[in-house]
Amino acid sequence: MRESDAEYAERLRKEWGDKPCDCTHKKQEHLLGMGTGDYYCIQCGRWYTAEDLRNK
Ligand SMILES: [Zn+2]
Repeated sequence: MRESDAEYAERLRKEWGDKPCDCTHKKQEHLLGMGTGDYYCIQCGRWYTAEDLRNK
């Protein structure tokens, strides 16, 4: 079975640990082919909501 975005982000977080990250590259989470409106950093796996990104 293909790894879901949530599982992928979880793995990134574990591998990245607590190193600093500027999170410049974020990707929208997709579930069953639909964007969920949540984003994760493709480097450290930290989650961002659409709201978080708007307030930046
Ligand atoms: Zn990051």
